[in-house]
Amino acid sequence: MMDYNDILKEIYEEVKPLLGKGRLADYIPALSCVDSNSLGIAIVSVDGEVCKVGDAETNFSVQSISKVYTLAMAFAEHGVGLWDYVGKEPSGNPFNSLIQLEHEQGIPRNPFINAGALVITDKVLSLYKKPKNAILDYVRKVADNEDIYFDKEVARSEKDEASRNLALAHFMQSFGNIQNDVDRLIDVYCHHCALSMNCVDLAKSFLFLANHGENPFNGDKLLSRSQAKRLNALMLTCGCYDESGDFAFRVGLPGKSGVGGGVVAIIPGELAIAVWSPELNEYGNSLVGVEALEHFTTKVDKSIF
Ligand code: GLN
Repeated sequence: MMDYNDILKEIYEEVKPLLGKGRLADYIPALSCVDSNSLGIAIVSVDGEVCKVGDAETNFSVQSISKVYTLAMAFAEHGVGLWDYVGKEPSGNPFNSLIQLEHEQGIPRNPFINAGALVITDKVLSLYKKPKNAILDYVRKVADNEDIYFDKEVARSEKDEASRNLALAHFMQSFGNIQNDVDRLIDVYCHHCALSMNCVDLAKSFLFLANHGENPFNGDKLLSRSQAKRLNALMLTCGCYDESGDFAFRVGLPGKSGVGGGVVAIIPGELAIAVWSPELNEYGNSLVGVEALEHFTTKVDKSIF
């Protein structure tokens, strides 16, 4: 891989003045305790080379980025049948919106809004006796790091404030689109959102998507080429909720964000890049993270277009 260390340092200095312009997620109380000035970036190439800057090895809460792992797990098992339960259209609404669900008979627009991710987590619950272990196992393998855990404090904090996600799950259950006990579902969902990882882990963990579905660390074929293409397409069109169009416009890569302030993107066949800066913009995406990714694709003149 080309040496991106100098470019990362440049980007770091360019975006740093934006710190202080966003807002920490506070609807999950434990997320409001992080240092809002944190900023890290890591790039990992498909052959495992790492470039990084700033707080790239400080752990944080990955939140919705975890929806990519559960989707990959469920998609590998269900194949095209999965799309009977969840759509593949951008929603144009905030990530935790209830608005479309009644019109659309309990079938969420896509697997990355909370409603869709709950349907996917429900599938993971049906597939595995110990779903939390299965998810942890999967993430440790794709990130090539046995030392990844759920942050129990963050999981508990989200479960204490889960009325909205409980409402989404119960509502979809009334349409027959949730099979498992809702409290168990929310418990597993809050745990996978509470995965504690850093930028290097995150970039590594997305390499299988940059590598046509194959985990470059152990050769496991996790998704077919076609499934990897589809999952990447969903990240491009839905990965940043109602800011996905703007993200595609500015960054030009498939990517996924979380309210912990992480955002990961991939260049197919080449690399994954993860940024962490916990302050969010009005759409719940990392304000500095999106900016840093825009600087990156502009500077290196690469995108999927
Ligand atoms: N756990 C968060 C929630 O359900 C995830 C949201 C996000 O990262 N956008 O609200």
